[in-house]
Amino acid sequence: MGKIIIMYGLPAAGKTTQARLIADKYGLYHFAMGEKLREQIASGSELGQKIKSTVDSGLLVSDELILEVLRDVKNQAVETGIVFDGFPRIVDQAILLDQMLAEVNLEVDALCLLKVSSEAVENRINDRIATENRGDDKDKSVVENRMNVFLKESVPLSEHYRTKEKFYELDGEEPIEDIFNKLCEIID
Ligand code: AMP
Repeated sequence: MGKIIIMYGLPAAGKTTQARLIADKYGLYHFAMGEKLREQIASGSELGQKIKSTVDSGLLVSDELILEVLRDVKNQAVETGIVFDGFPRIVDQAILLDQMLAEVNLEVDALCLLKVSSEAVENRINDRIATENRGDDKDKSVVENRMNVFLKESVPLSEHYRTKEKFYELDGEEPIEDIFNKLCEIID
């Protein structure tokens, strides 16, 4: 049966890079919440219009709207398993996910926290500006908002999974391949 893995960490911690590698190796569906929200905005959908100003400011989209993006999660979880990237970000979302998975007799296998310093975040975001056209990377106050969301939520969210013995912490400043190898050990 497919696994349910969560990648967690500060902006530019390497969540997407590792999630792609994991998705590839284990045949999991890569569920990138930020990307899905940006797609909605780009398409001009009703949901996209509702979430644009929140995403542009770096704050969290309300759980009610996040639910709309989660529609296919249960099927996907059963069919392939999922590596989540950018979800859940708060305990309420974690509880929501637990409930959805319980309905199909699944549960989260691991939340993997990639730890990086704020200096590394700044450098990586500067690099990312050159390669990806993300509006929310270009404005310092927006990056700050995103970092503050993480700092406020990371302890309770980590605790949620620690109490279930599903919490793993990795040094996100090691080479990509070394982190990936450690993640594979956790998943296997
Ligand atoms: P990301 O691409 O993961 O950095 O996410 C970009 C932005 O999308 C965030 O700053 C939030 O505004 C929004 N977002 C992403 N994931 C979530 C989530 N799980 N809950 C609420 N808002 C989110």
